[in-house]
Amino acid sequence: MTKKLYFDEPMTTEFTADVIETRRDERGFGVILPSTFFYPTGGGQSHDTGSIGTARVVDAFIEGDEIIHILDKEIALGSYPAKVDWERRFANMQHHTGQHIFSAVFWKELGLETISSHISGETPTTIDFNKETLSAKEIALAEKAANRLVFENRVIKAYFVENKDSVPFRRPPKVDGEIRVIEIEGYDYSACGGTHLPQTGMVGMLKIVRTERINKKTRIHFVAGWQTFAFFDEVQKAAQESAQFLAIGIDALKETVESQYTQLKSAQNELKKLREMKLEIEAQKMVQLAEPIGEKWLATSLFENRNAGELRSLAMKLRVYPGMVAVLASFDGSKLSLVTACADDTELSANELLQDHLAPFNGRGGGDKSIAQGGGAATNVDDIFKHTKEMVRNS
Ligand SMILES: [Zn+2]
Repeated sequence: MTKKLYFDEPMTTEFTADVIETRRDERGFGVILPSTFFYPTGGGQSHDTGSIGTARVVDAFIEGDEIIHILDKEIALGSYPAKVDWERRFANMQHHTGQHIFSAVFWKELGLETISSHISGETPTTIDFNKETLSAKEIALAEKAANRLVFENRVIKAYFVENKDSVPFRRPPKVDGEIRVIEIEGYDYSACGGTHLPQTGMVGMLKIVRTERINKKTRIHFVAGWQTFAFFDEVQKAAQESAQFLAIGIDALKETVESQYTQLKSAQNELKKLREMKLEIEAQKMVQLAEPIGEKWLATSLFENRNAGELRSLAMKLRVYPGMVAVLASFDGSKLSLVTACADDTELSANELLQDHLAPFNGRGGGDKSIAQGGGAATNVDDIFKHTKEMVRNS
């Protein structure tokens, strides 16, 4: 049975590891120590990493009543200097303790129960509560109460009890026998086997960065300590750079972005109108230049790199003229886009016209009687236009 030294000394990171047994299986090379400061994955908290001798500890987990340390290379039985990676452990402890604080605060202030949590020192930690939605007011209230507990710098105690009824647990444990209690002095009692900080002040500032609804629960994503620092650092940099780009102060950022957005929307609307007018003029010019074939008119044009949407709009404008058949093409250097359109009185089908043009070069596309579009790897547009002329003539 491995003695869990991290229970009583969560701040100790250096010790002598006595490797008394080794095990190799599909998870790697494992070693067992009679006692350890390495925390194994469990209770929503991820395992520690570190070193034993010259080997890296890459994983740690509980198996039966033993803790298996997975190393990146084999080592022989014996005593080695061992070290837990403090940065990772501290971040885990800040978030684990932060989770106790948030769970306690949501329970006391809003009557919400913690359903589950996932503790992470690298990405925001999550807690799921038994309520579908949380208002901005409720979140603000919980954040303030949580940070108040941090600033009060309350002592956090860890101890074992034999009788669970002797402790006013927030969520009474389901098991009997010896239970480890984590107490935020005078505020919250919960059963937990993880690593926690000795005082709430060490958690640093707590901030909820996101909430989401999952089935009938609300999940909060929060950051603590150094992760909060990194979060605000990033937010401040983004705000500063945006303000600098707009040549204004950070305090004017929101107002300026809103007004610029309104101006952009109105400019986009204006641009849309102007484009429409330009297309209308273009269509009129094409009508004037259209070739008479019997009682019909043929408008053809080849463009360079013109987007398919615009070709289609232009073709739609052309087909309102009586007798009009339009074949518009755009070549981007490798692919030809084709749009065909026929006025109602021509009794020609734009789709049939298109399919006829696409067939020689295995192009793809489709449409209806009025308008059709498609394309493929064709290069000779003149042949297509010539072919159109024959088709219109013979119709
Ligand atoms: Zn805990």
